[in-house]
Amino acid sequence: MSRFKALLVSEENGTFVSRVVERDHSELPVGEVLVRVRYSSLNYKDALSAHGNRGVTRTYPHTPGIDAAGVVESSSVPEFVVGDEVIVTGYDLGMNTPGGFGQYIRVPSAWLIKRPAGLSLRESMLLGTAGLTAALCVEKLEQVGGLAPEAGPVLVTGATGGVGSIAVALLSRLGYTVAASTGKADQETFLRQLGAQQIVPRGDLLGSAEKPVLKERWAGAVDTVGGDILFSVIKSLRYGASVACCGLTAGVAFQANVLPFILRGVNLLGVDSVELPLVVKASMWDKLSLQWKLDELEALAHEVGLEQLPEVIERILAGRLVGRVLVDLA
Ligand code: NDP
Repeated sequence: MSRFKALLVSEENGTFVSRVVERDHSELPVGEVLVRVRYSSLNYKDALSAHGNRGVTRTYPHTPGIDAAGVVESSSVPEFVVGDEVIVTGYDLGMNTPGGFGQYIRVPSAWLIKRPAGLSLRESMLLGTAGLTAALCVEKLEQVGGLAPEAGPVLVTGATGGVGSIAVALLSRLGYTVAASTGKADQETFLRQLGAQQIVPRGDLLGSAEKPVLKERWAGAVDTVGGDILFSVIKSLRYGASVACCGLTAGVAFQANVLPFILRGVNLLGVDSVELPLVVKASMWDKLSLQWKLDELEALAHEVGLEQLPEVIERILAGRLVGRVLVDLA
């Protein structure tokens, strides 16, 4: 059976429309491994792709989905055989290569990771790129920034989002005191269930834009929103502390000055989960399946099918989603 279902985004009279359609294997790109996708997940970048953002996707019609987990159906390389359970996140998947919002993908073997024994395919996509990114942020804060739980409170911005909610849960699981910054006043219970000990309204972080530095508060921070909030976080870092910067929902540009860097020796650490070498991705997935395994993954996600995706895509773009969205492609 070479026909399968996929969400297809098409440009029609200058607007971008998403529909579930039937596709054929012959419409997939040439590649080494054909994967029957079992689960995908929704990330902010998928919503940008579905809305015609040319920085993410150049040509349409297109199937987004930067994450996919499934079973190898055919392979031209010896490293992967029929029946292998695999995970793909990032690289070009869902950007200009048809992605995980289709029941099949065909990709280079260099993008594939074999499912670690400690994670089911479902769990891997409850985490998805968001989970991988949150883990990379924490890893960088510890390995490069020298962060440890006893150092003091760690701030997470965009805390109810996909990356943010997993960062809160992971930091809490590792013994950190977590402060969660959110624009959603009604999500305090959700954030406390994930392990946040303090809730910081988003507006509080933007309150003192005119001051060159602010009171030293955070021993570390995971910033998923960027924009001027990022610099406000930098101004509130304790002496020598670091912020891991991974997101842009509040904007790509920010007003800054050198004072926090030269007076307090703070560090701005960039995090990328997309083009990261496969071996590093694989080691993070191993960690997420073992010593960093999270118990509350189901609690921070809700599940949709392809038909419901267009509606949740609108919600993630509007900043109204809470937690993760698992996409079931059965
Ligand atoms: P989500 O939409 O799930 O989360 C983003 C959160 O940011 C929202 O839930 C909201 O949280 C907050 N937010 C939304 N709009 C604004 C705004 N205008 N100002 C301030 N805060 C806002 O997205 P993801 O978790 O999937 O991704 C988060 C970011 O990380 C995105 O920019 C994404 O592109 C980036 N990313 C980067 C990766 C990398 O490799 N560097 C990989 C994965 C994601 P709240 O209401 O709680 O404040």
